[in-house]
Amino acid sequence: MIEEQIRGRGLDEPRVIEAMRAVPRHRFIPEAYRSQAYEDCAVSLDLGQTVSQPYIVGLMTRLLDVSVSDRILEIGTGSGYQTAILARLARSVYTVERLSVLGARARETLESLGYDNIQYRIGDGYEGWTEHAPFDKIMVTAAPGELPDALFRQLKDKGKMVIPIGEELYSVTRSGDEAVKVHHGGVRFVPMVEDGG
Ligand code: SAH
Repeated sequence: MIEEQIRGRGLDEPRVIEAMRAVPRHRFIPEAYRSQAYEDCAVSLDLGQTVSQPYIVGLMTRLLDVSVSDRILEIGTGSGYQTAILARLARSVYTVERLSVLGARARETLESLGYDNIQYRIGDGYEGWTEHAPFDKIMVTAAPGELPDALFRQLKDKGKMVIPIGEELYSVTRSGDEAVKVHHGGVRFVPMVEDGG
């Protein structure tokens, strides 16, 4: 997986490669789909959700420029696979998932693998996690229709967010009140659900 799908496509940031090598992707995937764990595609997690293709996980992780001192907010825990990679690279990860079944399963997997720098919340990702804001970085792994303002406001000045908006991937750097957006190509993510309506 690493050689063909990640390095083979030009993604060779050593810390990202090292983190992806260290995380056993199959452990995050339900047994029924586990044989597909290392294939070059997104894999089902049940409930209509998917864990992203390995390359996209690698790309988004690299775009986030994670440093060891970062406190990261992640929206869309899903399987917890992306959470694990971030937890290896950063000081701490605050992860929010709206579906309690997936959130609980991810937590069980991550705790069984020994990660102790992750905080879990079941709730609406559009609200972020105000008690722990501001964050150095924010990773969003479900796609809203536009940049959620509450999340942008929970980013530190000069902080960075990686987010699919519709079917386009962006990195967004905060410069005061301004969002400096860079486009990184087309992607397909499950929608970021608005529970309010
Ligand atoms: N990063 C995950 C994949 C996430 S799939 C992994 O590595 O496995 C997207 C996830 O976002 C799904 O689990 C979905 O339930 C969740 N999601 C969708 N809308 C959300 C919202 N408004 N708040 C929090 N989580 C949301």
